[in-house]
Amino acid sequence: MKEARVWRPKSERVNIGELHPQLRLALEKAGVLHDLLFGKPLIVTSGNDGRHSRTSRHYRNMAIDIRSWDKSELGQLTFHVVLAHIAKEYDLAIFDERNRDKAPHWHLEIAD
Ligand SMILES: [Zn+2]
Repeated sequence: MKEARVWRPKSERVNIGELHPQLRLALEKAGVLHDLLFGKPLIVTSGNDGRHSRTSRHYRNMAIDIRSWDKSELGQLTFHVVLAHIAKEYDLAIFDERNRDKAPHWHLEIAD
């Protein structure tokens, strides 16, 4: 039987196979809360893949992007607070990249 997941990658091109363990724990927790709040899985849109700045932590398995546009404005506001809470708990940095034209998202990375 296929396990119901609280998060999933956008496509098979999303590479999170070697994701930093701290980030994986945070993702699991974020997924549980996303499922509770919205009744659907959290979508990871990028890991160690895609196009990022040359020195991006994405290329060191230390960053993920999370889809924002699949939630209402109020849903995004709520989940932004959830992510900020999780970021603090797991010592991560969160970048609000919802103003990106093509693919609005939140970026989570291992903090210094
Ligand atoms: Zn990112």
